[in-house]
Amino acid sequence: MPDRTTDAWRHLDAAHHLHPFTDYKALAAEGSRIIVRADGCSLWDSEGTEILDGMAGLWCVNVGYGRDELVQAAARQMSELPYYNLFFKTATRPAIELASRLADLAPPGLDHAFFANSGSEANDTIIRMVRQYWALEGHPERRVIIGRQNGYHGSTVAAASMGGMSAMHKQGGGTLPDFHHIREPHHFKYAQDQDPEAFGREAAGWLEEAIQAIGPERVAAFVGEPVQGAGGLIVPPPGYWAEIQRICSKHDILLIVDEVICGFGRTGQWFGSQTFDIRPDIMTLAKGLSSGYLPIAAVMVGQRIGRTLVEKGGEFVHGFTYSGHPTACAVALETLSIMERERLVERVRDDVGPYLMERLGALREHPLVGEVRGVGLMAGVELIRDKTAHAFFSPVGKVGTRCRDHCFNNNVIIRAVADTMVLSPPLVITPAQIDHMVDTLTRSLDQTE
Ligand code: PLP
Repeated sequence: MPDRTTDAWRHLDAAHHLHPFTDYKALAAEGSRIIVRADGCSLWDSEGTEILDGMAGLWCVNVGYGRDELVQAAARQMSELPYYNLFFKTATRPAIELASRLADLAPPGLDHAFFANSGSEANDTIIRMVRQYWALEGHPERRVIIGRQNGYHGSTVAAASMGGMSAMHKQGGGTLPDFHHIREPHHFKYAQDQDPEAFGREAAGWLEEAIQAIGPERVAAFVGEPVQGAGGLIVPPPGYWAEIQRICSKHDILLIVDEVICGFGRTGQWFGSQTFDIRPDIMTLAKGLSSGYLPIAAVMVGQRIGRTLVEKGGEFVHGFTYSGHPTACAVALETLSIMERERLVERVRDDVGPYLMERLGALREHPLVGEVRGVGLMAGVELIRDKTAHAFFSPVGKVGTRCRDHCFNNNVIIRAVADTMVLSPPLVITPAQIDHMVDTLTRSLDQTE
């Protein structure tokens, strides 16, 4: 890289670069913090300041930064075969090997992988795939996909339509047709005083109501993240997923689980589906699949859909130039090997996950904290204006953003989703780093006015 001062980099950034999900005026006023290197769970900015990454990038750098094994895997593959496509009856060894490794790892029955480059593309793929499936099965009228409010499935127009982020729906003129959203199972927001299990049944019942209102014969699938991440770290109440599963089976509706965040150890099992005992027909994977070192995503489907696509389908008219990119596949394969070798899933389940929740538990006494929730190594600390009156902040999000900014100025990255502080560090985080992260969050809460 050219040798420039931090101010010169900031100037170029402001002059030429449109960042994703960013308020451009606010960024122009403050300027970016330029991140120049990383190792383990730490980042360094261009001024040489170390920052603890409590978000694993964007919930993705599960094995941590600075992994030479991944660099070597990419270099080996790039010198042997940097790229080839899978379109015209060709395949590459890394793509085949990764598909078969994922089939072994995934919950039983999910034995075919379709590769994409991002979670958004993977979710776009399933929209086409489930509608194609129903058309091939003689039910082209089954087109509606039901998701949840504040569910996040990506940023393409179709994936954002399937997701339930109202701000995204408003920008660009609304959603595509044939998507519907039910309320999310947010116990603290909707039903703090209700028994969680009863609330879980009630929240799953919103799916049944939606199916009846739309007409079961028009519904193709239900989609959900095991734990809603970008929607505010919403851990489903007990019994919720079992009831969702029952309702989908009753109406013969496909169950799609978006494991883009929850997959690869985040919840203390390989997949969130295992943590919550879900048996999906389709699963989307991304982020932790390559630990964010290269873009790659996958759609996993089971026999039911796989057989129909293969036996009745003709050409599946869908794909990406970089589907199953051999270098990304090689890096993903090495990522899985690291996870297995270092027993990172067990580490989250038995060690650092419980420790994070234990440390965060003390924050319940803080005057700003309404609820602490989480599973595995993902946690949310929801801030509230008045605990006794159960009164949330209005407008939503300002206090969370201020707390996030204090964390950042204190050199720890913790995200704010509305007024919920979200933590999702690399799976290799140490107890001492968890202490530092939680102590900094506590100090930042104290600074939050
Ligand atoms: N699905 C979930 C659950 C996500 O959290 C995200 C991104 O945060 C996506 C899909 C979209 O993935 P990508 O940003 O790789 O397109």
